[in-house]
Amino acid sequence: MSLWALSNPDDLVSLQRSSAVNGMIRNPYQIPTLEECPECGNSGGLGGIIPIECPQELRELLETHIDHGEYINLSHEEYGKVVDVARKYFREKDIIAGSRLLPLYWHVPSPPEQSVFWPGLRCIFHESLVAALEQNQVTGLKYIPIEVARVGSLRVDNKSWNRKLDSLDDSEMLEASRPFVDNVERYGNFFLVEAEEKVFYRMANELNWIFCSTCGHVKEEPNHDQYQEMVETWSQDFVIPRRFVPDLDVFKCPGLGRFVINDKVKEILKDSESGNFMTKAVRII
Ligand SMILES: [Zn+2]
Repeated sequence: MSLWALSNPDDLVSLQRSSAVNGMIRNPYQIPTLEECPECGNSGGLGGIIPIECPQELRELLETHIDHGEYINLSHEEYGKVVDVARKYFREKDIIAGSRLLPLYWHVPSPPEQSVFWPGLRCIFHESLVAALEQNQVTGLKYIPIEVARVGSLRVDNKSWNRKLDSLDDSEMLEASRPFVDNVERYGNFFLVEAEEKVFYRMANELNWIFCSTCGHVKEEPNHDQYQEMVETWSQDFVIPRRFVPDLDVFKCPGLGRFVINDKVKEILKDSESGNFMTKAVRII
């Protein structure tokens, strides 16, 4: 069996060109982050995506904590009020500061004509690729529906690209992508794709790390240098120790691209005829 690190291609020379192709995800509803976590003292929150529509009662409460379009960090007391409402609708263990709820919206400045996209640190697949992966019973991935909210008409190639675009931030980039495409449905459905983080948690377990159940940060981090050393070696040499390789077709691994995939998944990606990704061989040691 061969393994491959899958990541975004490195041929889009600027962050702006990458944003123009891959777009950005907006999530209007999230469990707020904390000013100072009562459990571990960190601020912020590292919750993941709870793939459930945000209930109306919670939407109304969350909207009171937005300032200039951004969520503010809450005091522990205010955070507690949000959690009291959230626990009526979600499993207690999923309610971690910073967790995002559906709907998720995708804004993409150029027409999405590929099967794979890399907005920020996330990954999006077209439904045709998801169908192929499901047909082949690929293990290790979760598919979360995402709404295509806005598609612009920018074209990212050397002939038409205006260098002025290289200095824009994400919202300016979106403005620059006018005129917007009216019928976004014609591009089909897209899914945010997440892989299991088995390797990271196996490492954390081996190193005796303890995570905070309120905000998701590492609460106790013994043997941090050992962790750092392992990840550096893996990312320099593109290797992974056999004991950490999970029995999955796709997984996430610190230092090795966005995902690690096996031959079966590499073939499916190749057949999808999508560009916009690259693979690099990973050696098992
Ligand atoms: Zn905490």
